Amino acid sequence: MERIYLDHNATTPVDPRVFDVMATALRSGGNPSSLHAFGQGARATVENARQDVAALIGATPAEVVFTGSGTEADNMAILGLAAMAQPSRRKVVVSVIEHHAVAAAAEVLGESGFEVQTVRAGQDGVVDLADLRALVDERTALVAVMLANNETGVIQPVAEVVEIARQKGALVHCDGVQATGKIPVDVNALGIDTLALSAHKFYGPQGVGALYVKHGTRMKALLRGGPQERNRRAGTENVAGIAGLGAAARLAAAEIPTEGQRLERLRDALEVLLLALPGAERNGSGPRIPNTTNISFDGAEAESLLMALDLAGIAVSTGAACAAGAVSSSHVLRGMHLPTRRVQGSLRFSLGHATRDADIPRTAEVLAEILERHRAVAHSRR
Ligand code: PLP
Repeated sequence: MERIYLDHNATTPVDPRVFDVMATALRSGGNPSSLHAFGQGARATVENARQDVAALIGATPAEVVFTGSGTEADNMAILGLAAMAQPSRRKVVVSVIEHHAVAAAAEVLGESGFEVQTVRAGQDGVVDLADLRALVDERTALVAVMLANNETGVIQPVAEVVEIARQKGALVHCDGVQATGKIPVDVNALGIDTLALSAHKFYGPQGVGALYVKHGTRMKALLRGGPQERNRRAGTENVAGIAGLGAAARLAAAEIPTEGQRLERLRDALEVLLLALPGAERNGSGPRIPNTTNISFDGAEAESLLMALDLAGIAVSTGAACAAGAVSSSHVLRGMHLPTRRVQGSLRFSLGHATRDADIPRTAEVLAEILERHRAVAHSRR
């Protein structure tokens, strides 16, 4: 059976060119902190990757801190920035559609005396700027709004968020994990203080990410030990992983324009076919990353659809990967105030390098058959 992978927002396969760079780094060995030639070779690998990541997001290399994941980058920013906030600033404001990596880190701040406030999102999947404006004040230390949502793909008005936060002197963290490598990202144009990214969302390896930290930003380190990463993140660097992240960043920088257009064409074609199915509705509108669509099928159980699609060789998702398998439904779609029926029947299709033209009609065809079968069963039970 030929399999179709439409879950690139969960993780992307490692690009063979990235794999080769990583294999070379693994074979070379060396600790970047060692002064001998082996160590200096590893150091050069890490610093070259830092340049490539910086170039992808418009930062300077000194502003890039390598981490063990996107989750770690989000935690580092939220906890590290709040720890250095003035005593008069004891509030953090996060959007309702944030990934658990941000939401759970904010909860930790809540347990340590910060007031955590949540910004609403509209039915279109965009954070409500009027609500944000009402929440942010002189007591706000930090605002966190993501760049692109992992479930709907909707791109958030981050530059406007920064403007609102700045008026009250608050910092802004942006989870750029689903945007980086898919659309052009320029940290200076956005005006944010920190940006999280993760290699495995753009054809790099799992278990390595980075945090952009704007020059001059005061941030407490999460991990203590050696002086690696300019004292921002202790621990011997994951040299091969970092080399892979750098290679993935270089490839993405070169390929975003063409691959973005190709994926948008395929995603739009898939959407036309899926929205023609009975009871189908799209979740999220306005500007979106080019590879993602989230569609609800009225009256259907998303998990059953996912399993039936999987049996037919097609991999999709019911929302955030870490939410899948758990009983709770998507907090993102609930946060958008979509009716429960719509939340329960929603599937995320995320395209990528592996997606071919023929996958589009095939996916729609298989899903149409599955929906028909499920509806016939539901009808016979009435
Ligand atoms: N933030 C967003 C928006 C994500 O989609 C993910 C991964 O699904 C993460 C953070 C966490 O990244 P990682 O898997 O590298 O920990």
